[in-house]
Amino acid sequence: MHRNRQTKIVATLGPASSSADMIQWLFERGVDVFRLNFSHGTHESHENNINWIRKLEQSLGKPIAILADLQGPKLRVGKFETSEVNVKAGQQFQFDMDAALGDSTRVQLPHPEIFAAAKQGDELLVDDGKLAFRVDFVDNQCIKTTALVSGIISNNKGLNLPSTHLPIDILTDKDKADLDFAVSKNVDFIALSFVQAADDIVQARKRIQGNAKIIAKLEKPQAIQNLTTILKATDGVMIARGDLGVELPPEQVPPLQRRILREAQRHNKPVIVATQMLESMIHAPKPTRAEVSDVATAVYLGTDAVMLSAESASGDYPKEAVEIMDRIIFNAEQDVFSNKNTPLTETPSIPEAAILLAYRHKARIIAAVSNSFEAVAKISSLTPGIPILAITSDIKIYHQFTLLFGVCSVYLDKLPDANNPTEYKNLVQRIAEREGMVTRTDHVIVVLASDRIDSAEFSGMSIVS
Ligand code: PEP
Repeated sequence: MHRNRQTKIVATLGPASSSADMIQWLFERGVDVFRLNFSHGTHESHENNINWIRKLEQSLGKPIAILADLQGPKLRVGKFETSEVNVKAGQQFQFDMDAALGDSTRVQLPHPEIFAAAKQGDELLVDDGKLAFRVDFVDNQCIKTTALVSGIISNNKGLNLPSTHLPIDILTDKDKADLDFAVSKNVDFIALSFVQAADDIVQARKRIQGNAKIIAKLEKPQAIQNLTTILKATDGVMIARGDLGVELPPEQVPPLQRRILREAQRHNKPVIVATQMLESMIHAPKPTRAEVSDVATAVYLGTDAVMLSAESASGDYPKEAVEIMDRIIFNAEQDVFSNKNTPLTETPSIPEAAILLAYRHKARIIAAVSNSFEAVAKISSLTPGIPILAITSDIKIYHQFTLLFGVCSVYLDKLPDANNPTEYKNLVQRIAEREGMVTRTDHVIVVLASDRIDSAEFSGMSIVS
């Protein structure tokens, strides 16, 4: 889908947006990737959404990607006799393996692995960090703590242990069932929650067996420590600022966002900036000025995509949220790409050289014919500010390209011979004109893929006009 902007929009579906009409409306106003959040909903509700999306895609002839976001090993406390209790700063509080209902002195923590991993002095956070406890003593049955702040703790609240590497599988039994279901429904991306190390991705990849690309959610300090190896192992990342801002002081999130974006671009991996981007629009028709600025900042930093969570899933104004996000991106891009950056390396790669050439010849687009997500991601991660026309004969890659910055994805049953530049050029020109991306007099830079169409390498480039 050729839009008038290059940064993509991911929108989460939920009760406020799960219908054929709403999905069509949201797509037409700017959503590129729909996110199914497996922390909520049923397989039936997710399947309905998938069917509506695929039907819409067929009727419009435009690619739409689906991202299945697995809940992951989210830790939760048990239940209380009175549903909730008051905890006072300085009091002792115990988390243990006893299934009995909790009270103002203790509650069950039904995760045996945690007792082996927690250490004296660790901090334990409950309910998105609203409550904090210092660990005083641990054995294999209980964790004794001192409450650091006063507050209310209630049934099944989430628990975070930021300073501890948790020896837990990346896929819970629920995740495995959800993943198998999502793969059987041909989703395009699987997002893994609470990734701690590259091996988590290796484990998940074994189960996914090439049927979807992996987005590693960066929301734990351990993932930041292992950022380079995670970036090498994954297909893309999501900066999951919700949990990240609980596990780390929130003031560390903006510099981390900048660093992750820089490093991901170096590894040619797409990035989704997520959570609370237009949070106030859950209940208000207009965003705050700070939220507008937050979305624009992500665009200035060169993110591939920005994400809506509750705003589109359960908010009162999902349509308005997509519309304003589209406008914020458009305006930020007008600003940033009016002053194009040329790639700086001394011995430019083919994608870098293609971008330089495109600037020099004022080319309208860069085109690549490829069945390789990685190859097109290499061009996209340089954020050229010039639309990239990516032509593929692989239906899954056709969907997956829609997440990449600046990429307009087009499907063809059969690709031309990679060794026949004339055939390439004619095809590109024809499709670019059909998509309204160029007129007959415009220059196009065509990047030639290697002989193997699924290879991430390029063999050359040429100018078409
Ligand atoms: C987050 O924590 O920012 C996030 C995206 O995770 P989820 O919404 O799945 O909890």
